[in-house]
Amino acid sequence: MMRRRSDEILAARLAARSELTPSGCREWRGHDNHGYGIMWDGALNQRVHRLAWELANGPIPAEMKICHRCDNRRCLNVDHLFLGTQAQNMLDMTIKGRRTQGESHGRAKLTENQVREIRVAPGPQRAIAARFDIAQSAVWEIKNGQRWRHLAFDKGEK
Ligand SMILES: [Zn+2]
Repeated sequence: MMRRRSDEILAARLAARSELTPSGCREWRGHDNHGYGIMWDGALNQRVHRLAWELANGPIPAEMKICHRCDNRRCLNVDHLFLGTQAQNMLDMTIKGRRTQGESHGRAKLTENQVREIRVAPGPQRAIAARFDIAQSAVWEIKNGQRWRHLAFDKGEK
């Protein structure tokens, strides 16, 4: 019978097959699928960022996603990961302009500085959205702190 390896073994393998980059990401150097690092855990192929989060925090609640703050799918630094709903993940991808091509038209990728700029930008949200080529709902989310909340804490990082 296939059995998942112990947490200690899995953690050691994650560490051995990843490298810390100057940006602070711990990047997976093994196999990947759609850009996400994957590793055989003895029973299943696991996405390594999910596995890393689980080893640090315990089981991932059903229906929840493990999302990347750093937008680097190969990264498994738990400080760069957060638990989100599918809806949050989709919104995050919209803001980052990472959706499939047909949907991405007119959705610019924002830099962290632009997000900070949007947060304090005066005037109607419709105008701000047009200026940055993003959805008005994304402006609302940024201004209301629903997304990109981490930017408040990591100023000067990266
Ligand atoms: Zn990262």
